[in-house]
Amino acid sequence: MRSPGPTVSLPNMPVWDDDPAWQPPSPLGGDALADVCVIGLGGSGLVAVLALRAAGLRVIGIDAVDVGAGAAGRNGGLLLAGIADFHHDAVRLLGHDAAVAIYRRTLVELDALFAEFPQCTRRTGSLRIAASESELADCRAQLAQLQRDGFPAEWYRGDEGEGLLIPSDGVMQPLRRVRAMAAQAMRAGATLHSGTRALEISGTSVRTDRGTIRCDRVIVAVDGRLETLLPELAPRVRTARLQMLATAPAPDRQIPRPVYWRDGYEYWQQLPDGSIALGGFRDTGIDTEWTHDAAPSAGIQQRLDHFLRTHIGTLAPVTHRWAASVSYTESGAPVSEEVRDGVFAIGAYSGTGNVVGALCARDAALWVIGSTSGH
Ligand SMILES: Cc1cc2nc3c(=O)[nH]c(=O)nc-3n(C[C@H](O)[C@H](O)[C@H](O)COP(=O)(O)OP(=O)(O)OC[C@H]3O[C@@H](n4cnc5c(N)ncnc54)[C@H](O)[C@@H]3O)c2cc1C
Repeated sequence: MRSPGPTVSLPNMPVWDDDPAWQPPSPLGGDALADVCVIGLGGSGLVAVLALRAAGLRVIGIDAVDVGAGAAGRNGGLLLAGIADFHHDAVRLLGHDAAVAIYRRTLVELDALFAEFPQCTRRTGSLRIAASESELADCRAQLAQLQRDGFPAEWYRGDEGEGLLIPSDGVMQPLRRVRAMAAQAMRAGATLHSGTRALEISGTSVRTDRGTIRCDRVIVAVDGRLETLLPELAPRVRTARLQMLATAPAPDRQIPRPVYWRDGYEYWQQLPDGSIALGGFRDTGIDTEWTHDAAPSAGIQQRLDHFLRTHIGTLAPVTHRWAASVSYTESGAPVSEEVRDGVFAIGAYSGTGNVVGALCARDAALWVIGSTSGH
């Protein structure tokens, strides 16, 4: 098989950035007033913005860079039910009722995502394929727990290997989803600003590099580097870099569903045009990947190249390489709570935040509505 080309010779650009007509919202033009300020315009922040607008609140959403500039626009695009931990592990970590409740809520959120964004989502199901005998046993334990709790899952044996098929899961084009949400939020009357960085946050004001926003409540919806923005979370939140690459259309491969491999450390999907987006190997650079740096590195990219050629088995050239930051908690449970008076933080989805982030955002919006309704 042909050897992969040189590593990290491409700009840090996700395969998803395919709309040259995209215009970021303008930066904040000075001091401003709102009921709620939402910091971070990824998928989570935008779910909160939309929920707050639906409740009739005046919302200003800001992003230091642009809509979807963080993990929300640079991820693998897998839409998976549950939290980052597999369901049987979640039961052990969170307790049975809590794990079942969150899994059930993610199924509802998935239904909503597929219904609302048919132009950028596909309900394909997903595969968890075992990379070893012990992982195969773990897949059986996961299947048993899912079936005991009445969630859709079946055993799978096929071209990709052996493991689990979860029919309720799917894939999306993540950047297209967040841009569609931003457009929807602005049409609904929300004010969004890119290029506007929050520097100082209290429950009644957000000082940015472009002016100060006075408000009644603040939601911080930032996954990677959450602990930098809110240092009180530093004891339990830690930022890591996740890296991916994508190929040109790969006619030598047919991959009907996204694959989660080796406990989900590697993950890939084939896009409608035949390109393959592949991520992984965070755990192999344990000294290097706990970092706030969000640029691809030669070491991990070489592993991805090797895996692409030897395991996925395509000859398609690599066209994109990228990375982004996410954050993790030791317990596996995301952050979703009031961290300062009037400031609610959501994030730290431990690498799987496309669906859970939306749940936490709905909880944040409910907290705002509940805590301001007496005003
Ligand atoms: C390579 C990779 C692959 C992944 N694959 C998957 C997957 O397949 N499935 C899945 O479910 N999850 C996946 N994830 C995780 C998922 O992408 C994230 O958990 C989720 O997108 C987080 O979205 P968010 O809106 O909460 O936060 P973010 O996307 O982190 O958005 C936060 C926004 O806040 C902005 N911001 C940061 N600081 C400030 C500040 N001071 N002021 C103003 N704005 C600020 C940033 O610019 C950013 O746009 C992956 C992540 C990565 C990096």
